[in-house]
Amino acid sequence: MLVQPHLFIPGPTTIPEPVRMAMNIPMEDMRSAEFPKFTLPLFEDIKKVFKMKDGRVFIFPSSGTGAWESAIENTLAVGDKVLMSRFGQFSHLWVDMAERMGLDVVVCDEEWGTGVPLEKYADILARDTGHEIKAVFATHNETATGVTSDIAGVRKALDAANHPALLMVDGVSAVGSIDMQMGAWGVDCCVSGSQKGFMLPTGLGILAVSQKALEANKQNGRMNRCFFSFEDMIKTNDLGYFPYTPATQLLRGLRASLDMIAEEGLENIFARHTRLANGVRKAVDAWGLQLCAKEPKWHSDTVSAIYVPEGFDANEVLKTAYYRYNVSLGTGLARVAGKVFRIGHLGALDEVMVGGALFGVEMALKDCGIGIKLGSGTGAAAQYFSETATKSASSRDESSSLKAA
Ligand SMILES: *Cc1c(COP(=O)(O)O)cnc(C)c1O
Repeated sequence: MLVQPHLFIPGPTTIPEPVRMAMNIPMEDMRSAEFPKFTLPLFEDIKKVFKMKDGRVFIFPSSGTGAWESAIENTLAVGDKVLMSRFGQFSHLWVDMAERMGLDVVVCDEEWGTGVPLEKYADILARDTGHEIKAVFATHNETATGVTSDIAGVRKALDAANHPALLMVDGVSAVGSIDMQMGAWGVDCCVSGSQKGFMLPTGLGILAVSQKALEANKQNGRMNRCFFSFEDMIKTNDLGYFPYTPATQLLRGLRASLDMIAEEGLENIFARHTRLANGVRKAVDAWGLQLCAKEPKWHSDTVSAIYVPEGFDANEVLKTAYYRYNVSLGTGLARVAGKVFRIGHLGALDEVMVGGALFGVEMALKDCGIGIKLGSGTGAAAQYFSETATKSASSRDESSSLKAA
């Protein structure tokens, strides 16, 4: 194949060259005296991405799902009552895990295309005067439907009820791309993974935990645990090591990724994601198609799930994009299979890459007989990008390069 497949799925995302090169190294001794000089600053620096005020970050050789499990089994006991909501495949799977692990789950079932129901949460928490609910769960960004929920709003609901429950957030497709303020929002466990905003291959389950969650871990009656145990991790991490063989190449990649994140700046990264997502939404409007997200307040800046018109099969659009144009788009999952296709727009991405995705989508839609005008969506996105362009996306300093010339 002459060129790499163009990957516009919401994870794994495109890996920037410096990150890929940082991982292309020989195996190293993870018990050497040198290793902590690398890991200890890594543990400190990753905290900044979560905007934590206390607590620590655990890095497991797993995917995000492992970090989900770790959050539950280290802080809760079998039979504990918890409050959760589901409105897409990922929030559904977390509920399923919580039930299988023996939690007594109060589930709010919401329409797909909406998100965490703040008013319902506030009401349930206010009525729980005996504080039977031990934890409240929220999926920050539902990747299946392209819906972002208001985590600060969940904190407000907890505070309004003066409720001590832990706040557990799935940030897998949000952290590093959409603002997460663990400290300010009082988030106790924030789950992430390596292959989305962190721009790495799959293979790290990343779990940020507050001091309050670490305290909950010390109480009696929690679940049995081993591989994902906080205490085993703490004992070894404090010295710069791991309880088992760490994925050293991924950690080297993480170092490079954190350096790139620091260089661009978190706020600039969030603004870039908003801008790129706006461009995608301009295209969707121009095509006359609908997002799965029901209202602008739910719009996700990392993934857009887009309905094909009634009578068409979204899988045909996906196949056409893949086989004819070498473009990978996200499939519709579970309830929206065949109805939506998804464009992942997170991680190492700029206007031209998003434009390429829209270009491929536009042709695939047309080829599938969906009556859209070629150039309509790409044109609308281009118009928006050019109107709102400030500085070169590559952060090159135009004035200094002119001087040099
Ligand atoms: C990708 C994703 C997960 C699952 O993570 P894995 O790394 O595939 O285990 C969980 N939640 C959300 C919101 C996701 O986007």
